[in-house]
This record gives sequence, C-alpha cells and structure tokens, in this order.
Amino acid sequence: DSTEWMKTDLGEAPPRIDLRTDVAHTARMYDYFIGGKDNFPADREAGDKVIQNAPFVTHAARANRRFLRRAVHQLAAEHGIRQFLDIGTGIPTSPNTHEIAQAVDPAARVVYVDNDPMVLAHARALLTSAKAGRTAYIDADLRDPAAILSSPQLLDTLDLDQPVALMLIAIMHFIPDDQNPYGLVDELLQALPAGSFLALSQVTHDFAPDEWGQVEATYAAAGIRTKIRNHAEVAKFFDGLEVPAPGVDLISRWWPEPADSPFAALTDAEISSYGAVGRKP
Ligand code: SAH
Repeated sequence: DSTEWMKTDLGEAPPRIDLRTDVAHTARMYDYFIGGKDNFPADREAGDKVIQNAPFVTHAARANRRFLRRAVHQLAAEHGIRQFLDIGTGIPTSPNTHEIAQAVDPAARVVYVDNDPMVLAHARALLTSAKAGRTAYIDADLRDPAAILSSPQLLDTLDLDQPVALMLIAIMHFIPDDQNPYGLVDELLQALPAGSFLALSQVTHDFAPDEWGQVEATYAAAGIRTKIRNHAEVAKFFDGLEVPAPGVDLISRWWPEPADSPFAALTDAEISSYGAVGRKP
C-alpha cells in the first residue's frame, strides 16, 4: 500500500538536503545519459560536453543499467540470492534492483546506498518494497565502508550471516586510485559470508582511448574526479573471487542481449565497460 515506504527507516529527522542545482552532479548527468528527467541545466550542459567528445557515453550508461538488470535477475533466479547491497544506486529508474529481485521472490531485501543529495531526495521511490521483503536507503559514501556496514538501516534489513550480492555498477570510475578503490571493495566483501557475490562494472578506455581521455577531462572541468580503467585494473577488483565464463569482460558478453534487441548491435567502443559477477568462495 502507499504508506508502506514510511515503515522503512529513513532516520528520525527529515533528510537534510543540500541540493545545489547550479553545479553538475554525477547522478544527474547519468540520469541525463539514460534518458531520465531528474536533471538540471548544469547537468545537461556538462553532459552535452561529454556527449560531444564521446557520443557513445549514453550507450555506455544504458549498457551499464541493462547489465545491472541482468545481473540482479540472474543472481536472484539462478543463484538464489535474496539480499542485495546496491552502492551507487543512482536516481531511481524503474525497474530498480528491488523490483527485479522481488519479481523473482517478493521476500528479497535490498539496501541502497548513494552519496548524492538528489538520490536521497528521490529515495522514497526506492522504498516501495513488496510486503514480504524490505528495502532501505542509506545516505552514505562508498569511501566509508565502516559507516555503511554499521548503519542501523543495513543491520535491520540484511542478515550478514546469509549471502549478499554487493552491487557496484558504474560507480568505481568515480573512485580514483588514491582513494583506495580495491581496499574499499575488499573491506565490504570481508563483511559478507562465503557464497556472497560481487557484481561490478565500470568504464574502460581500451576501445576508444582518445574519446575517453576527453571524457575524463570534461568531468575534471566540472569538478568531478574519475578513473577510467583498463582490463587488468578492472579484473583486479575480482581477485580472490570465483568468476565463471566469460570472466571479466565487456558487460555486453554477460548474458548477451537477444539478437533482435537494439542493444545487441552496439559496438565494443559504444559499450566501453568491463564487468563481471564473481562469487566469494
Ligand atoms: N548503479 C546505477 C547508477 C550509476 S551512476 C546504475 O548502474 O544505473 C553512479 C552513482 O554513484 C551516482 O548515483 C553517484 O551519486 C554515485 N556515487 C558516486 N560516488 C559515490 C560515492 N563515493 N559514494 C556513494 N555513491 C557514489
């Protein structure tokens, strides 16, 4: 029912939202790339500069969103995963992680985490859990895993003795190497039991180096740091995990789109994203 979301903990005080619309935000630029409406002129201006230098950035963004959908569905349907920790949620875009997982099992539980005030402002759309399941939203930063792991919303929602799928889709390229990206992923996985999964994707410059170099420069000019990674650098996120075929690869090779899908025709340069789904032994 429509008041169900109120039962999910958003904290006691109304969220304090520092929403500057005159500067570009990564979540709103991504929303613009995937055709959403929750973006402002500053986001579209910065987004258009990125598109000018690398028109396929919109394809890459949509491909990541579609990889997320396929990964959540497979994790729930094939691997029996009922708990998801989705960090770098993005502005709600239906179907969201809980809708995909709860279509397989309404009892699935999802914790969303993002540090963007715009995502927080829209968090209500993520708290529409099926009655049998549960969702929660945490306004937190991936660079502070301890805060995420100890948050009451997470501990109320997820049973950390049971497998959890950690979703890091299209977020790691916002964590440069001096911010300890591999250590952060490791710390989160350490807190999850054997049989948990990591689903991760991020953009690469391996197929269009000049264009992605320009994308990095355009983000930098908008005050947003990025780290585009090559194959070995993305594969390193899966060290110690069991990664089945096709291994860390273009995300379009993970449960490929049906041949008649318009997404099946995208080139490797248009996808420009590596990812995988790996299991913690
Ligand atoms: N996972 C979604 C959205 C990707 S856009 C999808 O695949 O469709 C990247 C998201 O990561 C944005 O919402 C941005 O706000 C968030 N993000 C970037 N850096 C972050 C950080 N350090 N901590 C938490 N969220 C972050």
